[in-house]
Amino acid sequence: MKTARPIRAGIDLSALQSNYRLARARASGARAWAVLKADAYGHGLWRALRALGDEADGVAVLEAETGAALRESGFAGPILLLEGVFAERDARLAGALGLTTVIHCRPQFEMLLAACPGEKLPPLYVKLNSGMNRLGFAAADLPWLLPRLAARPAGQVTLMSHFADADGERGVAWQLERFAALAGDWRGPVSLANSAAILRHPATHRDWVRPGIMLYGASPFADQSAADLGLKPVMTLTSRIIAVQDIAAGERVGYGGTFTADRPTRVGIVACGYADGYPRHAGSGTPIAVHGRRTRTLGRVSMDMVACDLTDLPAAGLGSPVTLWGEGAGGTVPADEVAAAAGTIAYELFCALAPRVPVEVTG
Ligand SMILES: *Cc1c(COP(=O)(O)O)cnc(C)c1O
Repeated sequence: MKTARPIRAGIDLSALQSNYRLARARASGARAWAVLKADAYGHGLWRALRALGDEADGVAVLEAETGAALRESGFAGPILLLEGVFAERDARLAGALGLTTVIHCRPQFEMLLAACPGEKLPPLYVKLNSGMNRLGFAAADLPWLLPRLAARPAGQVTLMSHFADADGERGVAWQLERFAALAGDWRGPVSLANSAAILRHPATHRDWVRPGIMLYGASPFADQSAADLGLKPVMTLTSRIIAVQDIAAGERVGYGGTFTADRPTRVGIVACGYADGYPRHAGSGTPIAVHGRRTRTLGRVSMDMVACDLTDLPAAGLGSPVTLWGEGAGGTVPADEVAAAAGTIAYELFCALAPRVPVEVTG
């Protein structure tokens, strides 16, 4: 629904392509799964497929139903189910459609065997727990798993693991060591790297990398901006100023009056609130751009509105364009900065974009 209410989410497909190419260039010896789970991190699965379907080495999703829908839409390339199957029905879909399937624990592998009796199994990604301690086989499971794997013909088998702190201080060396010990003399393909590992840890690149957040133009790092990494924002959340209040020093703004003006202040009211996906935890001072200039939000974010400071932006007023995040007519605000101000990460902002926000696709 193209509402007259001025909020819009712009999705730039050429930026998505550019970011995918950067991921591939940074891991040039490897092939790259375009991670499109969670509706392409809130950007829209089918839009992302339109941008990347022709050039992605493969696409990675969460649900077998999503994998099946991709296959049925005509996408013939590899499709990875990042957490494997959740029920026998998933396993039958994976077998029938050749969806590359993660197996991360014994019951899941048994489910797959039971659902594909006597048939060749789909290509498998065997997940090893190298220290994230979420999913994956431990050393003690391997004597059980390996003979059973060898006994059943399958598509190609790849070993995978996932990093807990590729963007942080602990880094990846400790997990690489554990992975090597688990993998033993494995000579087949290996897939380890998420965006952070692609960008900072070349030793992790191996055969297939799994870029997610970098495709969408946000930084996986707290200490390096997306722009510094050469990434382009894909999602831009824009709106307009729908009201202006001139308030005296000592007046407060919004629910709870959490912002108090320390000087006469010109307050702009933006048509964007937490029901649009803007984070309610973004307190006063969160960056926002109006009429080409950066300024700050004032007070609490409410369901449909947020206030901002226009005091030093005399050219801004009723109807002025606002950029909540991304690159828009209102100016540029990295989603990473808004996320940081709200105590979260851009992943969460993108995924939380509300269905009521009309989307405009470009590129
Ligand atoms: C989501 C996901 C990724 C992508 O991670 P980013 O940090 O977004 O690059 C990679 N691998 C697995 C297994 C995932 O679930």
